[in-house]
Amino acid sequence: MSAAKIFFNGRIITVDDAHPEAEAFAVTDGRFVAVGSNKELLSLRNTGTAVVDLGGATVLPGFNDSHMHLMSIGSGQEIVDLSQATSRQEIVRLGVAFSRAHPDRAWLVGRGWSQERFPDRAMPTRGDLDKISTDLPVFFIRMCGHVAVANSCALAKASITRNMQSPAGGQIDVDDDGHPTGILRENAMGLVGRLLPSYGLEDYKRMFVNGARAAMSVGITSVTSDDIGELVDAELKLEALQELLCEGAFPLRYNIQARVSEPAQVENLRQLRERYTFPLHSVEFGPLKLMCDGSLGGRTAALNEPYSDDPGNCGVAILTQQRINEMFARAHALGWQVSAHAIGDRTMEMLLAGFRHMLTSKPHPDARPRIIHAQITNQYILDACKALGVVCDIQPIFVATDHPFIERRIGPERARLSYAWQTMLTMGIATAGGSDAPVADCNPLLGMYAAVTRQDTEGNPLGGWLPEQKLNLTQAIRLFTLDSAFASFHEHNRGSISSGKLADFVVLSDDITRVPAEALKDITVAATYIGGECVYSSTNPEHAQR
Ligand SMILES: [Zn+2]
Repeated sequence: MSAAKIFFNGRIITVDDAHPEAEAFAVTDGRFVAVGSNKELLSLRNTGTAVVDLGGATVLPGFNDSHMHLMSIGSGQEIVDLSQATSRQEIVRLGVAFSRAHPDRAWLVGRGWSQERFPDRAMPTRGDLDKISTDLPVFFIRMCGHVAVANSCALAKASITRNMQSPAGGQIDVDDDGHPTGILRENAMGLVGRLLPSYGLEDYKRMFVNGARAAMSVGITSVTSDDIGELVDAELKLEALQELLCEGAFPLRYNIQARVSEPAQVENLRQLRERYTFPLHSVEFGPLKLMCDGSLGGRTAALNEPYSDDPGNCGVAILTQQRINEMFARAHALGWQVSAHAIGDRTMEMLLAGFRHMLTSKPHPDARPRIIHAQITNQYILDACKALGVVCDIQPIFVATDHPFIERRIGPERARLSYAWQTMLTMGIATAGGSDAPVADCNPLLGMYAAVTRQDTEGNPLGGWLPEQKLNLTQAIRLFTLDSAFASFHEHNRGSISSGKLADFVVLSDDITRVPAEALKDITVAATYIGGECVYSSTNPEHAQR
């Protein structure tokens, strides 16, 4: 056997149970062709073999993010970043600064605020945003993407007036006099969202490239990504990806999670899937996605019983049971994987009913239907996930952001079996790690840190939130590698450093197995390889960012 490239002198955590550790591996034609000791591998060397000394560094399989929004990471670099704002005044200050720096913008768009970080925990209003501008429309999306605030100018442009009825599956918040407060929830966001300036092919290409750069710089080699919501500009985005592949400018392996809300869109998507083809293991069509409720932070996740801190409010179930059943059954009949966003227990029960309906109408031994987030769970839901072979796409980093308000929102009883990652793994429920970026930081090492400590990066709460749900390091690594590859049917090609698999791997700054749990968050990625090629190096200034 001839090896094109041999990497040796590493501490290689393979995530392959047959041989969990190794010192070296060989790569030919983008795949691992041998994994073993330095001695074994260096003996395969012949003339023309390139040899790379890993210098004792720790190496893991490439990370897979099971649910994120890659293009929004790229576009987020071009709008007002509100993720660090700790008051409504700061939102105003950031908005003013951005509009001064970008006087050419017809709209001022921002993202990332959370009232949970404000002293009074009050959501911003149009009055706040009017302090930024009264003649420039301003639209600031909450960190979760399910709630936004608009200023008076933006509301006027969208013709949102006093006593106007909320659209189906959405809510226009009003004050005591029936005037809109500026807060728009779920489908009501679209009233303003559809007026935002449109993007062209070059814009999409730039956003995909910048998103991929950010992902690869933290060791991500493949993603399942929701960027074609409601099929908006689907052709343009797919063409952008095709052009980038032709230019060799998009090495990230990218699984398309197209989001639809109407049965007719399933047919539109079927036609797109026929028209656009991509080389194997580059870009591919993945699961259909339905958006079925909101967020816990925004109190729009649909619950069986009212919010503990908002009696009378059970959240927003965006789609009816009938519609969920219909769209799942159609997609499943076409042979597609299905997935849906669900955070509340009510929504999760609706999805499980939908999966049951779909699998009854067309039985399948291994359909792997996916629930994205799967946060507010109970024993019934967990048992049904196990029985139906559901994959739960979880975001461990959400424990870090949500722990201050989970029990306030749902009370201790419902919280006890929520964000129940260890229970899921112990029960044998298929579970995959992700970030939902740009909702949270896409760095999988931060996800692993949160999974292992159940704490935020400041170390709160002490001892971890529901510490019995902590994962061990091996589980946390698997979550973002092999388990995540399983979610998208790629476990035979990805997720471990095994002979025959694609040569995607990550070189770390430190030995992940020998640092204390609290130091996991400080480990950085020294280099990322996809198909044996270096796509990110911390020492290459051209790769510098973040
Ligand atoms: Zn998402």
